[in-house]
Amino acid sequence: MRVGIIGGGVGGLGAAYELAKGGHQVALYERAPFLGGLASTFNVGGGRLERFYHHLFLSDRTIIDLLEELGLGDRLIWKDSKVGFYYKGRIYPFSTPMDLLRFTPVSLVDRVRMGLVTLYLQRVKRWQRFEGTTASSFMRKWVGRRNYEVVWGPLLHGKFTRYEDEIGMPWLWSKFATRVASRDKTFKEKLGYIKGSWGVLIDALEGRIKAMGGEVHVNTSVTRVLTDAGRVKGLAVQWPDSRQTQEAFDIVIATMPSFALPRLVDLPADYLARVQGVEYEGAIAVIWVLRQSLSPIYWLNISDPEIPFLLVLEQTNLVPPEEYGGRHIIYTANYVTREDKRWGMDAEAIVEEYLPHLKRINPGFDRSWVEAYYLHKEPAAQPIMKVHYAQHMPSARTPIAGLWLASMSQVYPEDRGTNYSIRLGVEVARQAVAEAKA
Ligand SMILES: Cc1cc2nc3c(=O)[nH]c(=O)nc-3n(C[C@H](O)[C@H](O)[C@H](O)COP(=O)(O)OP(=O)(O)OC[C@H]3O[C@@H](n4cnc5c(N)ncnc54)[C@H](O)[C@@H]3O)c2cc1C
Repeated sequence: MRVGIIGGGVGGLGAAYELAKGGHQVALYERAPFLGGLASTFNVGGGRLERFYHHLFLSDRTIIDLLEELGLGDRLIWKDSKVGFYYKGRIYPFSTPMDLLRFTPVSLVDRVRMGLVTLYLQRVKRWQRFEGTTASSFMRKWVGRRNYEVVWGPLLHGKFTRYEDEIGMPWLWSKFATRVASRDKTFKEKLGYIKGSWGVLIDALEGRIKAMGGEVHVNTSVTRVLTDAGRVKGLAVQWPDSRQTQEAFDIVIATMPSFALPRLVDLPADYLARVQGVEYEGAIAVIWVLRQSLSPIYWLNISDPEIPFLLVLEQTNLVPPEEYGGRHIIYTANYVTREDKRWGMDAEAIVEEYLPHLKRINPGFDRSWVEAYYLHKEPAAQPIMKVHYAQHMPSARTPIAGLWLASMSQVYPEDRGTNYSIRLGVEVARQAVAEAKA
């Protein structure tokens, strides 16, 4: 069977690899000059680094098994997670149940309450019971006003901005479930990384697909899905030299953000409403290359409305600085809506605005520590999972025979991640081929 894949992120690469293994003729088109999409990398200090921070959980079985299959199992490194919470000028450790019990910004009664709710959520298996409940109303009710104001409100607002009160509880439940599933036998939470970066996995997938006779094209955009009498026929492709061609396919798998599908093909009203109904937020990350470490924490949540970033992530507390020529790598990041002023700001302007706030995280910080910085902006970084999302989520099978959608907006209730995008790409590839053969 001849299969065309739109998008060379990990979802598209996972689908292409699965199809090539099955002996199908596969061609993947990626419009960017590089593969990897949201998990793509760039060079820093002699090493490769993700444009947006990435780590793995022990529960990310699909990607862990895939790394083994590709002979990259020894690239996986696991570290005790070092999570912190910045509140009113202080950094509180926030990794273990004991850390929560010692979190003095809320009263002891509130801490116990938070602990009990955490235990309850970690034990719930049937997340469907939360479908009609918003995360904010659930947390306000069960952890109480103070815990919500100090911890959960800022976290939900940071992640979902103006959608804070619309997010369905299954999304938040999945966060608790993932965290508990990422504990090892000693009950310590572990976070994983691919030594050498996600680029190692992406390169290996590209290499294997090509070795099996598949095509992988970068700098190449799909401009139209071609159809005939309600069935997919092929793709219109724009090549790096601006040539336009039409390529024939029996199956097409689209892996870009779901809202972009209608730009490529006319869809019946019901399915169109579904793909257009899922809103996405953007992400903006500044990557700082520092001469010194900012803090001992890997993942530092910021609960302070005066600080213009949600998260300070010190990559070199997960991966040794030697990977980046001895530099310390820090991400300051935000999820943002389309209206955010930073879309119109350049790296220099954003860095000037952020610099004084790094001093609040570490009073010893000085701008002379900054050797270089990079800015990455991505408009479709996080689908918004509102209440009753399961009812509104677009299906993988589209109403056009042979056209399939495998996008981040179909990862639910788990928070989107490379593990789930690969899993979805592989599953959709298998289903598409099975149906085409039937
Ligand atoms: C800030 C941030 C932090 C994250 N942290 C983690 C983490 O810690 N761990 C983790 O596992 N995951 C993390 N993720 C999520 C992870 O990056 C994504 O789930 C995953 O990379 C999505 O892969 P995808 O292939 O589904 O989509 P994408 O990566 O979005 O790939 C889609 C591709 O389609 C291409 N495309 C679009 N239109 C066309 C067209 N017309 N023609 C050709 N190509 C086209 C795009 O250029 C893009 O490369 C994070 C994401 C963000 C934004």
